[in-house]
Amino acid sequence: MSRPPPDVAAGAAGRVSAKAELLQHGLQPKRTLGQNFLLDQSLCDKIAKLAGPEGGSVLEIGAGLGALTASVLGRGLSVVAIETDPALLPVLREKFAAALASGQLQLVHADVREVDLRSLLEAMPAPRTLAGNLPYHLSGLLLRRAVELADVVERSVFLLQLEVVERLCADPDTPNYGALTVFARSVYAPRRSFIVRRGAFYPQPGVDSAVVVLEPLQPPRPAPSDQFALFVKAAFGKRRKTLRNAWRGILELSMPELEELAVAAEISLDARGETLGVDDFRRISELSRTRRPAGE
Ligand code: SAM
Repeated sequence: MSRPPPDVAAGAAGRVSAKAELLQHGLQPKRTLGQNFLLDQSLCDKIAKLAGPEGGSVLEIGAGLGALTASVLGRGLSVVAIETDPALLPVLREKFAAALASGQLQLVHADVREVDLRSLLEAMPAPRTLAGNLPYHLSGLLLRRAVELADVVERSVFLLQLEVVERLCADPDTPNYGALTVFARSVYAPRRSFIVRRGAFYPQPGVDSAVVVLEPLQPPRPAPSDQFALFVKAAFGKRRKTLRNAWRGILELSMPELEELAVAAEISLDARGETLGVDDFRRISELSRTRRPAGE
């Protein structure tokens, strides 16, 4: 059997029994909420270490049984933790009574999709980190939210399916490079920190995961515009097609207008979308906003 690479946390030491803890409270993990709890406290400490220096704050999505929350609090950061499952709230309140009383921890019982994350973050002490072992079924949506929030955070740190992290970190013209990569890279520099094997969770998921650190680009870039999103989605929606075909009819542009725009943006319409970098998408979408096509 091959040995795991050195950056792999296998989840062996310092295990907490999430199963026993759930049983103790008469609970079962809920698959519909993507509940795969971390078992290894040293692994949580390793993730918490990425969350930033003491004095700052962390907005945690999906507190679960509080394994990661405990590590972040242990580093002296203040935490706002969002959790939707009402059954877990009493567990968290009991476990973190002292931190709740001191104000170091605030629990928000809500569906993260309905929370104004920007307002929450703006009220927290800087430097701010958005973090979480994300429920897998919400990872796409939450990554899009993280892109919109890049201007209010110092960084985002997420535990995600390995395949998603590989997509975030992919280079142009490689198989994992796609719309998600371009959106994330439009505001962040993503970096895979380490792999977390499936055995580190209860219940054990069918795939491995990895921790990704998303550092906002410097100087900060504006969140992607609607036009940027249109050009990116169209380019990757028809992956094997040339940009000429993928972008045909985009923004109601005629073919001569599209040709003119592409020349101005220094993009060949004979290329395929996966060969374009973030700056190419940014240039053409900016030009489409400012330039009146010929004949208008
Ligand atoms: N942080 C814990 C850990 O690492 O062990 C739990 C992580 S578990 C992968 C994801 C957590 O997100 C679960 O506790 C789940 O109940 C919660 N969750 C799922 N959907 C949510 C939603 N829409 N809003 C807020 N929390 C959600």
